[in-house]
Amino acid sequence: MDLSQESCPYCGHTGLTLGYWQETAHFIQCEGCGAQGPRSPLAEKPTSISPLTDESLLRTVIDESPDIILMKDFDGDFLLCNESLARLYGSTPTKMIGKSDADFNPNTEQVEFYKENIRQVMRSGKLQIVEEASTDSDTGEVRYFQSIKKPLKGPDGSDRILVIAHDITELKRAHQLIEEKERRYAYAMAAAGEGIWDWDIPGNRVYHNRKWCDLLGLDSSHASHEMSVLSRLIHPEDHDAMMESLNQALVGDGVYSHEHRMLRGDGEVFWGFDRGRVVEWDETGRPVRMVGSITDITDRKRAEQKLAEAKAELEKSNQLLEHLVSERTEELANANRELQRMARIDPLTGTGNRFQLESWLSAKSGDLPIAVLMLDIDHFKKINDTYGHKLGDTVLKQVASALREQLRDQDLIIRFGGEEFLLVLAGANEQQATQTAERLRAYVEQLAGLPIHHAVTVSIGMCAGTLNGFEQLQQTADEYLYAAKAGGRNQVVSSHSYLPENPLI
Ligand code: GH3
Ligand code: MG
Ligand code: MG
Repeated sequence: MDLSQESCPYCGHTGLTLGYWQETAHFIQCEGCGAQGPRSPLAEKPTSISPLTDESLLRTVIDESPDIILMKDFDGDFLLCNESLARLYGSTPTKMIGKSDADFNPNTEQVEFYKENIRQVMRSGKLQIVEEASTDSDTGEVRYFQSIKKPLKGPDGSDRILVIAHDITELKRAHQLIEEKERRYAYAMAAAGEGIWDWDIPGNRVYHNRKWCDLLGLDSSHASHEMSVLSRLIHPEDHDAMMESLNQALVGDGVYSHEHRMLRGDGEVFWGFDRGRVVEWDETGRPVRMVGSITDITDRKRAEQKLAEAKAELEKSNQLLEHLVSERTEELANANRELQRMARIDPLTGTGNRFQLESWLSAKSGDLPIAVLMLDIDHFKKINDTYGHKLGDTVLKQVASALREQLRDQDLIIRFGGEEFLLVLAGANEQQATQTAERLRAYVEQLAGLPIHHAVTVSIGMCAGTLNGFEQLQQTADEYLYAAKAGGRNQVVSSHSYLPENPLI
């Protein structure tokens, strides 16, 4: 019969195989669920599984177990052991029966420990869980086991022990590796010259080294603090900016760098250059760990501050200096203007002088109609002689002032000599100028308030034309002045009134 077409009455798996208990005894086994049954009838559901099947299954379980399973008597001789132990000892389960660890394990110390330990467990009568080492007989490699040791009694009442040992070598090595890494991490933290911090973000805790604690003036026996405690150490004026910078790093590229003031435990303030980097993220991409360091940059900051203060002071001094210079420049300009004005002004009478005449002439257009008047006080020498030079000065000033009073702003009055004045009437024609000259003469003659007992008179020579003929006009006016003197004084002579045949000239 083709067993491969038959299906298992338990699990329905198709493909049964023929097995042998002994050379003559057959059974059928399902590859699916492992059920075993008698040979015939093949498809019939077996009423029960035979005791031999139970033993075989148990044996299989024991042998296939990755854990070491063994049973020993009080002397430590094996009553049972599985493939896992046999592999470790380079033997077979059958060959090991009746032998002890000493026959396979070269490590006498371990062998002695097993022997003592099982006896102690058997004596106690209680189940114990023991961690122990065992040496591989082939490779000499030490492997570690966590062993459940259960004391039992044999059918004859003798002591036995059942041991199920789970190989924890890899786990132990992983632990050792982690411990080693942690030790190195701790060494690195302790040896670092800087204040190191390590932030467990979801745990809201910051771990740090001794240097960090020293910097902050905190008790270095506390290896970690809550983030909220640390945030209180940031100077209130820098707190928000620092937190903003940290958050930017968390949501951004994970790189953080900030300079801020911190409050030491003793209340002192120091400047820290704090920088860090996210080194771990969770599966959703959220940062879970950030590591960084802080450096005391108080000295640098103080130097910068001093420099800024010195700069500000310099700036202030510069501004003051600029202000002083501009004030002085203004004063000098004013003084210069005053000097220029004085250079053009006759100090006694306050009228202009020859410099002012030149500047006035050069500032005007050549075709400007003008009238030039040459005016001289009559018999002034006599006034001086009679009243003294000082009163003479006063008369001179009063006459000049009276003349200025009578002129328009655009006209010019220049003290030309001792008691002689040159007047230029801008835009005036001959007729207008003659009237003005006459008015001036009459005004002086009528002048009141003089410190002398008689009237002062003036003689005037007047000539009209345009500015570009100024020199000629002046010369002619001068001639007319002489004519006026010769004509008896206290009079105006112009081309209109000038009579060359006058015998007085
Ligand atoms: P004339 O009518 O011909 O002009 O006679 P005059 O006396 O005015 O003329 P003269 O030229 O003979 O004399 C002018 C005098 O004016 C001589 C001089 O001492 C005087 N004098 C000139 N300048 C000043 C001055 O600034 N102050 C005073 N007090 N006298 C002056
Ligand atoms: Mg005179
Ligand atoms: Mg004169």
